[in-house]
Amino acid sequence: KTRTRFAPSPTGFIHLGNIRSALYPWAFARSTGGDFILRIEDTDVERSTQAAVDVILEGMAWLGLDHDEGPYYQMQRMPRYKEVLAQMQAEGLVYPCYMSVEELDALRERQMAAKQKPRYDGTWRPEPGKQLPPVPVGVQPVLRFRNPQTGTVVWDDKVKGRVEVANEELDDLVIARPDGTPTYNFCVVVDDIDMNITHVIRGDDHVNNTPRQINIFRALGKEPPVYAHLPTVLNEQGEKMSKRNGAKPVTQFRDEGFLPDAMVNYLARLGWSHGDDELFSRAQFLEWFDLDHLGRSAAQFDETKLRWVNAQHLKAMSDDALAVLVAEQLAKRALSGDEHLPAICGLFKDRCDTTVALTDWSSRFYSDELVQASAEDRAQHLTAAVKPAITLLAQKLEQLSTWDKASIAATIKEVLAAQSLKMPQLAMPVRVLVMGTPQTPSLDAVLALASKQKILQRLKSV
Ligand code: GLU
Repeated sequence: KTRTRFAPSPTGFIHLGNIRSALYPWAFARSTGGDFILRIEDTDVERSTQAAVDVILEGMAWLGLDHDEGPYYQMQRMPRYKEVLAQMQAEGLVYPCYMSVEELDALRERQMAAKQKPRYDGTWRPEPGKQLPPVPVGVQPVLRFRNPQTGTVVWDDKVKGRVEVANEELDDLVIARPDGTPTYNFCVVVDDIDMNITHVIRGDDHVNNTPRQINIFRALGKEPPVYAHLPTVLNEQGEKMSKRNGAKPVTQFRDEGFLPDAMVNYLARLGWSHGDDELFSRAQFLEWFDLDHLGRSAAQFDETKLRWVNAQHLKAMSDDALAVLVAEQLAKRALSGDEHLPAICGLFKDRCDTTVALTDWSSRFYSDELVQASAEDRAQHLTAAVKPAITLLAQKLEQLSTWDKASIAATIKEVLAAQSLKMPQLAMPVRVLVMGTPQTPSLDAVLALASKQKILQRLKSV
């Protein structure tokens, strides 16, 4: 059974680049009948926050990236890491190193001066027949992993292909700090083993950790999982998308009215492809997803494209389903819709790329305070010449016994004839008055979906 995981660090609000590293392992687990595990890597206590954990949980729930196990929290697994450390110590897989920070700095300086790559020189690594330096008093050692000194670490990365790293390039990694707390690379391996992870799909900023992690796997007598290292997601400026350079938290897209299925569609394409298919449903994505079509080059976020994808999904939704989403958003604005809301959604959805835009339109039907048209629109359309026609329209509409599109259309025609006006000469000013903008779908349809009383009130405000 395949087992994948998403292992975010809650040190900032996860953005689209981060959540893409959840989407692929989720999709892989779902499309292979496997399990998807959520693990919160919160060992950086200084920088981890509950607010960041909340964004992870809310963002994933919103996008429908459901997990079968977890969330596990690394901080709660400390006893387990310490247990494995003790076992490794007993087996001689790790050793104490007493080199002080000053000594390490001096070593680094010497290596840099000699144009060598800075690395730990193995001073405290025990070897048969080797005399170790005298143990300094009052110094707590770190524990270092006895990395193999010869041979190469090789893996077939699902994205990068075959990767080979000579063990000579890797020094003996610190896996426990002087206070005994385990370090990052070690915890990840213990977790991936304990959680039976079969496929690690993660950002390629971790690719340098992989050979080190593989060596720890092997030292613990386990075969490493399959790895797929995803290329970076760049922001619109072409920089690596980062919590630090202003990338939006994923939940902000929810608040801006993006649809989960559209996000999944857009994110899926940001580093994976299925021929030329740009638009697909969640079900199609799960049917098509595989690790063989992950892209090898960095993908760039493009909000215009995302909006387009969202608009296509929005248009494809039923009016009733849209009305449910819009009703929720109206409620947040202390407004409520009525039986016309689905039809309003249907009438306006082609002009909207988010549900927030659709809610903005809908709110014009239900709010007592109409967003006023711009001064230019008012000046251009609400001329003294047209006011008598508007007054006449209001009088005639008031007398209507049925408030529907056909009766309204007939009334408009009567007023046009009586005043010798052409449709746009009346329709534009009426739109400005009743919807706060001259750009709306056909006037009779708009009026029929609004309440008669609101329309009369707005027409009389001329
Ligand atoms: N916690 C790491 C991060 O947020 C991910 C580690 C992993 O996937 O192995 O970048």
